Amino acid sequence: MDTKSVKQPIVGYHKDDEQHWVAKLICGHNQHVRHNPPWTVRLWVTTKQGRDEMLGYELSCVKCGEHAPRDWQTLSDYNEH
Ligand SMILES: [Zn+2]
Repeated sequence: MDTKSVKQPIVGYHKDDEQHWVAKLICGHNQHVRHNPPWTVRLWVTTKQGRDEMLGYELSCVKCGEHAPRDWQTLSDYNEH
């Protein structure tokens, strides 16, 4: 199957049940942004300043390529923690 991804900017964050950071993309999809060295190094996600600076940064959203349903719906969900 041909899986495409679409670049979508980050509009907010929340933590999942295991305390991993999840970025919310403008398309309505969630994407984990784990800091899990040495495999995945995202030091920026561990600080509020780093996360704020990455707002608007575009991540590749595979769910868009799959036409997956939105993970969240309303703008008021943006800053749940
Ligand atoms: Zn998406």
